[in-house]
Amino acid sequence: MKGIKMDMKLSANAVNFIDEAKLQNLLENSKEDLPRARELFKKALDKKPLSVEETAVLLAIESEEGLKELFAAARELKRKVYGNRIVLFAPLYVGNHCVNNCKYCGFRKDAKGIVRKTLNNKELISEIENLEKAGHKRLILVFGESPVYTPEFIAESVKTCYSIKVGNGEIRRVNINAAPLDVEGFRIVKESGIGTFQIFQETYHQETYSKYHPSGDIKGDYMWRLNAMDRAFEAGIDDMGIGALFGLYNWKYEVLGLVSHALHLQNTCGVGPHTISFPRIKPAADMNLELPYEVSDDEFKRLVAILRLAVPYTGLIMTARESSAIRDEVIEFGVSQIDAGTKLEIGGYQNQKGDEQDITKEQFVIGDTRELDDVMHWLLTKGYIPSFCTACYRMGRTGEHFMEFAIPGFIKRFCTPNAIITMAEYLEDYASDRTKEAGYSLIEKELEKLPDSVQKEKIIAHLEAVKNGTRDLRF
Ligand code: SAM
Ligand code: SF4
Repeated sequence: MKGIKMDMKLSANAVNFIDEAKLQNLLENSKEDLPRARELFKKALDKKPLSVEETAVLLAIESEEGLKELFAAARELKRKVYGNRIVLFAPLYVGNHCVNNCKYCGFRKDAKGIVRKTLNNKELISEIENLEKAGHKRLILVFGESPVYTPEFIAESVKTCYSIKVGNGEIRRVNINAAPLDVEGFRIVKESGIGTFQIFQETYHQETYSKYHPSGDIKGDYMWRLNAMDRAFEAGIDDMGIGALFGLYNWKYEVLGLVSHALHLQNTCGVGPHTISFPRIKPAADMNLELPYEVSDDEFKRLVAILRLAVPYTGLIMTARESSAIRDEVIEFGVSQIDAGTKLEIGGYQNQKGDEQDITKEQFVIGDTRELDDVMHWLLTKGYIPSFCTACYRMGRTGEHFMEFAIPGFIKRFCTPNAIITMAEYLEDYASDRTKEAGYSLIEKELEKLPDSVQKEKIIAHLEAVKNGTRDLRF
């Protein structure tokens, strides 16, 4: 089939690093052990990654007292170690043609009543312009799996994103969520200047994987997908995004799967995943699934807090699949990136504000439908600095040579100043009055926290420059 590589060659590192028997055994035999869990909270607060066995100790916490301490540890880690920045992005769905039949997805080949579409160049440009006009700087392009969405096609879409500028608007980082490619395919996409390539394993439990992904489909090949990030790394992509779709199988098992995957990448590539995503299944068009493993809100909070503690060098992404109320709570446990102003409909950013979601045009129903400015305002009133920073990737600070949390003082020196400057750009160019007021008031508080120093003077000078029209200053 043209465009989709059918030789499906696994990389030299291809191993099944998911030891199912071990993971099941850990889950069956771990009992709550609070003294041990407390040692692990300390280890995590020292930014030391947890092993699969240690993560299982945290998963075994069930008592009210234990859970309280678990959440407190995740909150502390978030506040003290990662600071109060939240990076904002928007997904841009480029096309929903798909050759697969993943049972949970509104884009699956056999879904009835779904409107199929791939943005043409003019429509893509119009989407990008609208995203820039709202203030976005970071996008993730999303694709179904189709012979049309070749690596060259994906690379062209990325280049289009970078080439479009409206006023002071520009897209500074483009991430990808698309089907696994072979090494050559990943290389072509990498050369277009992408940030992260995201691929979710969906479930790390092989039998369940087969249940939801028919065996004749390309996506039916568990190992092709499990090995995707190894191939991406081989192709030079060192910003890798992994994830699991929660609700297909036991959530505790999936957490151990994600930790196993992160450790595998760390051990074989010398760099762990850049991000982990943990979407929960949402209703989709023509979907009538029984989900015996549906994850409750309480379980969701636990899984995010445990992931935060287990993988200290990895960003955590919580998407608008979740409602604003859930996002409000869970953001405290160590989430570092969220999407905002999200539209899943192909061409959805050309619609008017307040248009209803139309399930026949979307992959699934989203929970948080707020516009970017409302999300900005919410974050600011909670004391978070919304950040559009793209400095590291643009200055070559990626992958094995660089882990932002591993370098002492990095956040103070780079992340917080860059968050402040990119937020100020938003406040000057796109914010509503109330967001602008809340934004500058937070910036003042952040500056007060800083001791007098050359660094502080530089931030103040950059802020002045932003007010006077200079853009894209970075540390
Ligand atoms: N087609 C590519 C693939 O499957 O890898 C690109 C990704 S797909 C458009 C993005 C992700 O959405 C999937 O990996 C899956 O985890 C998630 N997803 C699919 N159906 C969903 C649903 N009903 N609710 C929530 N997330 C869903
Ligand atoms: Fe296609 Fe991806 Fe949806 Fe599966 S999850 S049906 S591969 S778009």
